Amino acid sequence: MSSLYEKYDLKQVINASGRMTVLGVSTPTADVIETVGYGLNHYFEVKDLVVKTGAYIAKLLNAEDAVVVSCASAGIAQSVAAVIVKDDAWLLENLHAAPLSVPHDIVVPKGHNVNFGAPVGTMVQLGGGRLVEAGYANECSADQLAAAVTAQTAAILYIKSHHCVQKSHLSVAEAAQVAKAKGVPLIVDAAAEEDLQCYYAAGADLVIYSGAKAIEGPTSGLVIGKQQYVAWVRQQSNGIGRAMKVGKEGILGLTHAIENYLLKDKVSGAQMVENMTPFIDNLNQLTGVSARVVWDAAGRDIARAEIKFDEKVTHWPTGDLVQALKTGDYAIYFRGYKANEGIIEADVRSVTPEQLDIIYRSIRTLLEKKA
Ligand SMILES: *Cc1c(COP(=O)(O)O)cnc(C)c1O
Repeated sequence: MSSLYEKYDLKQVINASGRMTVLGVSTPTADVIETVGYGLNHYFEVKDLVVKTGAYIAKLLNAEDAVVVSCASAGIAQSVAAVIVKDDAWLLENLHAAPLSVPHDIVVPKGHNVNFGAPVGTMVQLGGGRLVEAGYANECSADQLAAAVTAQTAAILYIKSHHCVQKSHLSVAEAAQVAKAKGVPLIVDAAAEEDLQCYYAAGADLVIYSGAKAIEGPTSGLVIGKQQYVAWVRQQSNGIGRAMKVGKEGILGLTHAIENYLLKDKVSGAQMVENMTPFIDNLNQLTGVSARVVWDAAGRDIARAEIKFDEKVTHWPTGDLVQALKTGDYAIYFRGYKANEGIIEADVRSVTPEQLDIIYRSIRTLLEKKA
């Protein structure tokens, strides 16, 4: 299919940055793609399709109910709308028509108020909510979360992500206890997380996943949860959800991908280490470069190669090197969060051994230019 790259003058990408929206997230397996094709080629009673695939997914995940949405961001917006609108038929069609008189504050630990590519607060606002922060940038305890809940609170929103402040922030289970004690629902955004059951099991009322990240489905999202809350999310397809419609192909493709995800042996962190060891050994031969295995900061079973550059030796500001690697024959993308400290990380889950070699040789060539 290199012809499409040629037709539109696009660059071939080597993705060593992980499941990134800016690179197209993931590449589903052939059987998932076949299911997407089947979906595109047939008609369905869509309401029935939504309800029955949701029930099927819920059974797989031991949840009361589930619904496929267009992406995790849409899942956040529609979950917020669901807990505000509930059964109010007028509000369903007029969410943004007038200032809301029903509770619509969404309480979020301050360290969770992040930008994942778009701000969490924007999704809350789309759903009619007003974001209220609990705690501080560096801490949010159960008591601090509870203190922010008032009669105007519609839900607590917990973002489970490596983007968030991890230190001194409460767990999902603790947030669930606060929600229960205060009589408000708990929504968990677990968009990029790998465990499809533990946050629901920990007491969340709604849990949101991105369909193309860990699950490797088509562009889509998943909301699982308690029956009443999922029904209110589903109902938003006649409200704000219509502006974020998921197609039959996405619904069928994600359902299939979830089933695959639960059945297949996951690539373990140990296997990732094995795959990247020759790459790390090669890098350690280069002057001014030291590479090693590091583990995911959010605690997932993901190993990555950390590459540290001694800028006094390489004469490359690491940020410039990262930029140069994007602009060669291949667009090579790393995790560059720490480039300001001379450190980049390679996530090898979507990289073949041949591509790892191309990455190594590209780095070597760039370093030689300034040696
Ligand atoms: C990726 C991500 C999202 C958005 O997921 P989409 O499916 O791309 O909308 C939301 N929250 C977090 C924490 C994410 O990592």
